Amino acid sequence: ISMEQNALLEKLKHYFHHPTFKSDLQKNAIIAILKRKFDVFVSMPTGSGKSLCYQLPAVLHSPKVTIVFSPLIALMKDQVDHLTRLKIRAETINSKMTESERKRVLNDLYSTQVSTSLLYVTPEQAATDFFKGLLSYLVRKNKLAYIVVDEAHCVSQWGHDFRPDYLKLGQLRELYLHIPWIALTATASADVVKDIMTVLCLKTPVSKFTTPCFRSNLFYDVIFDDSIKNSYQHLKDFIDQCLYDDLNCLEGTPNINPLAQPCGIIYCRTRELTEEIATVLSRKGVSIAPYHAGLKDKERLAVQEAFMSGHIQVITATVSFGMGIDKATVRFVIHWGIPSSIPAYYQESGRAGRDGKLARCRIYHSKQAKNSLDFILKSAITQSKTQDKQKKAKGSYNMFLKMIQFCESVQCRHEFFADYFGDTKPQCIDKCDVCSNKEAVKIDLDIFMYGMNN
Ligand code: ADP
Ligand code: MG
Ligand code: ZN
Repeated sequence: ISMEQNALLEKLKHYFHHPTFKSDLQKNAIIAILKRKFDVFVSMPTGSGKSLCYQLPAVLHSPKVTIVFSPLIALMKDQVDHLTRLKIRAETINSKMTESERKRVLNDLYSTQVSTSLLYVTPEQAATDFFKGLLSYLVRKNKLAYIVVDEAHCVSQWGHDFRPDYLKLGQLRELYLHIPWIALTATASADVVKDIMTVLCLKTPVSKFTTPCFRSNLFYDVIFDDSIKNSYQHLKDFIDQCLYDDLNCLEGTPNINPLAQPCGIIYCRTRELTEEIATVLSRKGVSIAPYHAGLKDKERLAVQEAFMSGHIQVITATVSFGMGIDKATVRFVIHWGIPSSIPAYYQESGRAGRDGKLARCRIYHSKQAKNSLDFILKSAITQSKTQDKQKKAKGSYNMFLKMIQFCESVQCRHEFFADYFGDTKPQCIDKCDVCSNKEAVKIDLDIFMYGMNN
């Protein structure tokens, strides 16, 4: 299908009730997918609307069926419910359904007038004879529009979320070469992208739609904790700078809407640290509270609400618990101690500056924390009881080493991310400590590595 952009916009409104596309990337991916000329790879952050990239084309190709592989039954159910509310017929086939439900779904798929537009399937179904039969039937009758692989990073052993069942999908690609495939993911390092291409056997050249990883409103730096005198005072001064000084330099009148109040997140490795930092900083006059899995549900909700409404400006959180928090005016994200991996750091620090205004991302890196983590991660390798666990522990250790490299090299921080994600070299200029003052970073690093007297 080729379509005027205005006509496409009309379809978007009509079927999905959105007045515009969320981004040019979303629009362009949809246009490319509609052409059905190439396989398409889409990499955009969580929440940027990847589903629409295949759902709109699927609807426009109805009564043909689009098959979507998705890793979790809960995720599939969300999508099916969402589409059903929009009056688009979507179904799933998975191991948890009753025989009669399954019959109902199959009845429609094997009927002459198919009304299912999207069929969500778990990847373990892919290798079954039953599914291969269905696929070959749909192809023979010219009733298959696309094959979609959502959360495509699950194919990769490099990813954090490897699912062996995803490896079976590649076999299907070879069967019907004329059906276009679409792979989507939020997290894709260069290694993972390579795996997605090879494991899924995507047909080259693949059309790629990828959000550039460089975010020019984020200023990144690393502070070598050993070379500052009073770390908590240093932290407090930095918070004040982010919450007040920076903003005074920005143009425009201050916004009194509580939801738009400037705020920040401090990530710590342990609950104890979140508590300690909150206690010390609140004595210094910071509006701050800890937020972690150890809190009772009620307390946690109260902190979350106070933060969202602007009554608390700063939270100290363990990484597992930044998830429910999404505020556009986060002015800083501090990691008190080294993050667990480059993609984790990119994602966690990426919560800053969603409004596009200046925000700061900082790691406080100390020798002591580094050495103790090194010890913990190494012990985890030697103490692994199974080969699988050992492989995982080694993976964590390697990610830690890469993160050390991020902190302890004199390379542009944005460029480091870009290299890691296989993106082009960003025009950082002065958006990180290295680019704005390389000499100073070198000196601090020397002191960190070799001590004051060398
Ligand atoms: P992703 O898979 O990239 O994490 P989703 O596909 O789940 O993101 O979409 C995130 C949210 O964005 C959903 O609530 C979806 O309805 C919404 N959304 C998608 N496209 C648009 C659009 N063009 N305009 C407004 N909202 C959109
Ligand atoms: Mg998604
Ligand atoms: Zn830089």
